[in-house]
Amino acid sequence: MKNFTCQACGNCCKWEGIVRATEQEMADAAKLLNITLDQFIQEYTRLSDDRQSLIFADNKDGACIFLNDDNKCMIYPARPWQCRTFPHDWDVCEELQKFCHGQQIAKIKNQIQDQFLIHVFGHPNKPLDVNQFPGDAQVLNCQNICLMLSKLNIPFIYYGCADSIIPNGGAFESIGKPTGNWAYQNAWHNTYTKRLGKALAKHAILDDESPELILALYGAAHAEVDTMQLPVIEPMLGYDHGWATYKVFPSYAHQHTIYAKQPELAYQTKFFDIVIPHFLDENNFITSENPKDYLLYLGRNAPDKGIQIARDAAKAAGRELKEVFSGYYGEEKAKLLANAYAVMMPTLYVEPFGYVAIEAQLSGTPIITTDWGAFAETVIHGKTGFRCRTQAEFVAAIKKAKELDRHYIRQSAVNRFSMDKIAPKYHQYFHFVWNVHKNGGYYANNAFRNISFL
Ligand code: SF4
Ligand code: SF4
Repeated sequence: MKNFTCQACGNCCKWEGIVRATEQEMADAAKLLNITLDQFIQEYTRLSDDRQSLIFADNKDGACIFLNDDNKCMIYPARPWQCRTFPHDWDVCEELQKFCHGQQIAKIKNQIQDQFLIHVFGHPNKPLDVNQFPGDAQVLNCQNICLMLSKLNIPFIYYGCADSIIPNGGAFESIGKPTGNWAYQNAWHNTYTKRLGKALAKHAILDDESPELILALYGAAHAEVDTMQLPVIEPMLGYDHGWATYKVFPSYAHQHTIYAKQPELAYQTKFFDIVIPHFLDENNFITSENPKDYLLYLGRNAPDKGIQIARDAAKAAGRELKEVFSGYYGEEKAKLLANAYAVMMPTLYVEPFGYVAIEAQLSGTPIITTDWGAFAETVIHGKTGFRCRTQAEFVAAIKKAKELDRHYIRQSAVNRFSMDKIAPKYHQYFHFVWNVHKNGGYYANNAFRNISFL
């Protein structure tokens, strides 16, 4: 296959089958392991079932005996010819093709003609697997970006922790298993930075004709990677420590908060930054014709999320407040949101985005919030919910919530925050970034804006 390079993911080493090696190959591997050929034969080989030759023994799980716990071949530089030539000239079944990282990457590279190639720098601590980490907003962001690239048919490579599950259309480059939890400049940060830089160097095309971008989704975790002068975008930037030349904030509220906190950023880069809201798949949410009587609080059990305000307002309005801090995902969560009379989200700090407000609206449920932060951009007062400043306003909002049109709320959210609506905005921004990167920055002569981003 054109552009194929083995990525040493180890997946073919777990596949059913036998590995044969010549005596010379066994001697080379023994040398690498610093043992004698006899020891090698004793410890690592067995007689084949047809009793014709020695083959490599298996681990208990059926994988080749040389595959270690990190899915790496212990004798990779001295692996036998059979392994070196796989999958060339092999009749590889479709199932294995899907698991072979080398084939996935070759497929991506073979697709690129004048299309973008996007390198997605993912979560440094957790594999991309929303089912395993359903409450983690950063894993969700990584997943959403990959799904969006799939929808746009843009080939991408996701660089993330071992065992990530990559949406269709993407390839995976494993950074391995974390040796600790990432913190700025701790041991894992340094190892991760080196591994990520090496992995990017392996796949970057660096050819002026092929548009190529990096999307870095975990703030400072990626700030010291050698990005090979490729343009770097920080999409979905809802945290404090943005560093890339191109930033996508989920709200103007957050953009301006960051500029005020770090004025040097405002002077350096603001011409290339943009606001594009977070997005969700509307199909994951349902609506209800007959909502129940409860108010819903869905979020952290923390004073800065305004939980006491929600409790006091619910009590003053004479309604039950269902408090849910975690534990509801998928269909169960969709039902909880759709059946709520209204959702309370009176965050006290400047909310960068506030996914719950969008989840409520996608469920057709009125959202009752404070009147600052992203809510000023995401909640249409008197139409999709209410933004309140006193307890009396919260109580009045609770009473008036039943008058809002739940169909309108849902449709308005689909129009503003569904993946279908947001994906073209990102696509246009990718073109904008490539253009200003290649053609003189601010003075690039054909950078124009034909989409309203909010
Ligand atoms: S020798 Fe190495 S490359 Fe070959 S099957 Fe075993 S673990 Fe995989
Ligand atoms: S599955 Fe493919 S990429 Fe992974 S080790 Fe085997 S040949 Fe290499």
